[in-house]
Amino acid sequence: MKTIGLIGGMSWESSAVYYRLLNEAVRAARGGLASADILLHSLEFERVVAFQKDGRWDLAARHLADSARRLERAGADCILICSNTMHLVAPEVAAAVSVPLIDIIAETGRAVRAAGLSRPLLLATRYTMEHGFYGDGMEAAHGIRPLVPNEKDRALLHGIIFDELCKGNVSDASRFRVLDVIARGREAGADSVILGCTEICLLLDPAALGLQGFDSTSIHAAAAIAFVLEGKHEAEE
Ligand code: GLU
Repeated sequence: MKTIGLIGGMSWESSAVYYRLLNEAVRAARGGLASADILLHSLEFERVVAFQKDGRWDLAARHLADSARRLERAGADCILICSNTMHLVAPEVAAAVSVPLIDIIAETGRAVRAAGLSRPLLLATRYTMEHGFYGDGMEAAHGIRPLVPNEKDRALLHGIIFDELCKGNVSDASRFRVLDVIARGREAGADSVILGCTEICLLLDPAALGLQGFDSTSIHAAAAIAFVLEGKHEAEE
């Protein structure tokens, strides 16, 4: 079986979800005691967050590219950055290794398109909602331009992600607030919802949003499984 290389720790709350999903998928496919072959490099999140806050994406790119190289040297056959936000530096990370980077934006966009939907509401960190790399990447790859919540709702989502979910706090009060954000997105014309932060699946069930939900964490993990079990990597086609 091929080895999955995870750049995780961003936050480790979501890396734990990846770990469980990947292992469950291999057990479901192979049965018995089968489990995934995984290398996890769990980064120190405070350091990554400092790069984000300072806008030092150059240093973040170097840090994650170094992690990807270490995973490749250790035997990883593919690399996953376990954070939507940090796909801001995905091109630099992909360029640092010779194994494929399985891109969360491309994979999520593919899932939205396959469902015949075109106007997903993007729930994510401010970086992901505001920097353009996510919307631009999805539009370039799949012709889908996600709808972004208003300023107040973006601040709310960002706060819930960093002050609660990344610290392991999941509350009903925040769940209801985010469901209200989704209701406003629906009024603004959204036809679906992207859980575009790898921790949001801790708060929301993508099947219970009132609109079709796309959970970036499980879509990303499923793409890694397709690669390691079937040798499929759509970006290469
Ligand atoms: N895991 C998050 C994401 O998917 C946010 C934490 C981070 O900034 O990396 O964007």
